[in-house]
Amino acid sequence: MAVRHPLLGVLVTLVWTAILAPLLLIPIVVFRWLALPAEISLFYGVAAVAVAGAVAGRSGTFAFAAFPVAFLGAFLGYAVFTAIATPPVDLLFTAIHATVAGLAAWAVATVKMAKVRSKVNLENEDKRRCRLCGARVGPRATRCWSCKASLNRIT
Ligand SMILES: [Zn+2]
Repeated sequence: MAVRHPLLGVLVTLVWTAILAPLLLIPIVVFRWLALPAEISLFYGVAAVAVAGAVAGRSGTFAFAAFPVAFLGAFLGYAVFTAIATPPVDLLFTAIHATVAGLAAWAVATVKMAKVRSKVNLENEDKRRCRLCGARVGPRATRCWSCKASLNRIT
């Protein structure tokens, strides 16, 4: 996995949600044309921002920043979409949708971080084994507790 600057991750999440949310909301305009019940638009809208948040959460930032960043991105995206497609803009409604997107982003980012962390731990564990006898050694040990071999060689 490429190591990216944390701020870049924040930016990616913000831009992703702000772009994805309106794109995924476009079918709501179609629903209106077809005169489908408002409940369908509402249900779809919530699902759409959740997906946008989840995708953005996967693509970028750390878990603790994912919620506010995705919230902001979805808020902007949803407000712009509503202003163009289905005015007027309802701020409370927009905030509720943005919260859903933020929660989805936070959940996905948390799961992703847990996976990354467990991978890192496994790699470190592999490195801290004695090269001669295979005994597990502590992270800062310089000498194997079992066969007394020096552990300073990086092999
Ligand atoms: Zn050893």
